[in-house]
Amino acid sequence: MKRIEIPAEAAVSVVLKARQTCRIVNTEGGQVVDTWAFCVDDADEYLSMEHSRSANYTLLFKPGERLFSNRFRPLLRLLDDTSPGYHDTLHAACSAGSNRFYNAPREYPNCQDNLLRQMADRGIRLEHVPCPWNVFEHALVGQDYALADEASAAAPGDYVELEALEDLILVCSACPSRVGRISGDLPRGAAIDILQDG
Ligand SMILES: [Zn+2]
Repeated sequence: MKRIEIPAEAAVSVVLKARQTCRIVNTEGGQVVDTWAFCVDDADEYLSMEHSRSANYTLLFKPGERLFSNRFRPLLRLLDDTSPGYHDTLHAACSAGSNRFYNAPREYPNCQDNLLRQMADRGIRLEHVPCPWNVFEHALVGQDYALADEASAAAPGDYVELEALEDLILVCSACPSRVGRISGDLPRGAAIDILQDG
């Protein structure tokens, strides 16, 4: 097992080979981790929340379900989840624009820039930022379809375990956003544990 730490307010990226498994770990608890995946061969094919919701007919993915690309191909399988199971699939990544929109008191680091930097470091310039899978984010959908936020209920050490179904670049950002207090009061780090070689 190899652990890759995700510093608070920052992102890391790893290449997962097909059949390789990993865990996204909430090391300190209560931290939202914006997560993306892109095909190694062609970053224009990426993990798509809208395709994954349609494929599974749900807003929240459960162990055993697969997550799909924008071309409706399965990219990841959710193998296990020790958290309360809330992993938002609806909200855009935080960004310089969202910081302005929500009147953030200062220009926080943001997940969108974190993603673009990680991909640029790999020589990939993204034309489009997909909706992230907001792992550990507890967004609620009301009876009237209004959205609400709760602080993440993930406990220290909670994880989601994933199997790559294609060769993927996985990008995880420890979300710095203060909007809705989705990660409670403090930005914290997280980790990716690489469990097994593909
Ligand atoms: Zn964020």
